[in-house]
Amino acid sequence: MALIVQKYGGTSVGSIEKIQNVAAKVKARAEAGNQMVVVLSAMSGVTDGLIKLAHEISQRPRARELDVLMATGEQQSVALFCMAASEMGLEARSLLGFQAAILTDRMFGKARITDVETARIQELLENGKAVVVAGFQGLDWDSGDVTTLGRGGSDTTAVALAAALGADVCEIYTDVEGVYTTDPNVAPEARKLGCVSYEEMLEMASLGAKVLDIRAVEFAAKFGVKIHVRSTFTDREGTMVVPEDQITEKLIISGVAYNKNEARITIKGVPDTPGIASKVFIPVSGAGIVVDVIIQNTSADGKTDLTFTVPKTDFDQAMDIVSATASKIGAAEVLGDTGIAKVSVIGIGMRNHAGVATKMFGALADENINILTINTSEIKISCVIEEKYTELAVRALHDAFGLADDLTPKPEDVV
Ligand code: ADP
Ligand code: ASP
Ligand code: MG
Repeated sequence: MALIVQKYGGTSVGSIEKIQNVAAKVKARAEAGNQMVVVLSAMSGVTDGLIKLAHEISQRPRARELDVLMATGEQQSVALFCMAASEMGLEARSLLGFQAAILTDRMFGKARITDVETARIQELLENGKAVVVAGFQGLDWDSGDVTTLGRGGSDTTAVALAAALGADVCEIYTDVEGVYTTDPNVAPEARKLGCVSYEEMLEMASLGAKVLDIRAVEFAAKFGVKIHVRSTFTDREGTMVVPEDQITEKLIISGVAYNKNEARITIKGVPDTPGIASKVFIPVSGAGIVVDVIIQNTSADGKTDLTFTVPKTDFDQAMDIVSATASKIGAAEVLGDTGIAKVSVIGIGMRNHAGVATKMFGALADENINILTINTSEIKISCVIEEKYTELAVRALHDAFGLADDLTPKPEDVV
């Protein structure tokens, strides 16, 4: 008997008919003798709709109340699912985040899971029930408040549960058949990867491939959870996300990712003295804002410019914080730009292969796309460009690195 954690995303539970379809899939696996824990997202469009409602009242709704509101989306799905399951003769119990004891810190809107107490879930499983957990939500134990984990956070609920329960596999069901060489909705020629390493998936997720939430991949890598990303709507095998040493075929480049959810902030005329960077960034990180791609120009006349990116959702708050700091430290001005995007190429084979950057810059130049900033790590190269060129850049890079060719690792390349 296997213990399987499955997660179904918004499109997979986007209508009553789809919820019934998912319930039938779960029933079949339960009847085959497996213990089933199912994590659900809100029905597609529901979370966006709730956020919109909140913004009709306030430009910046209180984070605590926004979480209480957003958590209702997943509450609907689990209740409807259990009703559908019951009609089919499958015994299923819904649990909200606090009932499933998904414990988090108090960062509303982007809470981190700190612990999962599995006693209640285990008892239900032992009594032969399928357990249906509301994704994306948790409980700040100290205050008893509801929290949410950030957009796409149901993936993280599922992987955290799989880790805590010691599940045999965590299946992430979505609207595409797995992890592709790039977003198949942008480049239809993208190919499905048979397997991908945690390291590459971590980069892809952090660079914008929303097929898996980054925190979910972090959890999986830390606790060795085997993830299978696959489609709700076909029975085909998807993509296995596994440790790097299990993959024999290492590609130089395995994917192209893009992220339109970042914005750029430039502080001009910053005094070039020790301690300035910490004065600028400590208040930003103190507000829980993640800063990426920091660039400092060489200084002229003891002044320098500092450019960095933040998530678009944190842009207004970051501008307020940085403007306050800028006047304290005597900087000239603060400029913001939300019309940017980041395109990246990722691959573990890049570690021992030169020429990737040159090829990337050449491909963008051929399309007349100006590079605003460049950022590299061992297994990725990212360029910030104007947002309007995103799709063009993704397709050009996918093409330049020959990713549509059948070079991708197959399941048999996993040892
Ligand atoms: P769900 O609602 O099931 O969580 P998401 O919309 O969060 O689904 O994630 C699936 C989407 O991720 C796909 O529809 C696709 O457009 C996008 N995506 C981006 N990059 C990739 C990639 N490399 N491989 C597969 N899908 C990707
Ligand atoms: N419903 C949440 C969202 O739309 C969480 C999720 O779907 O994973 O972001
Ligand atoms: Mg998602």
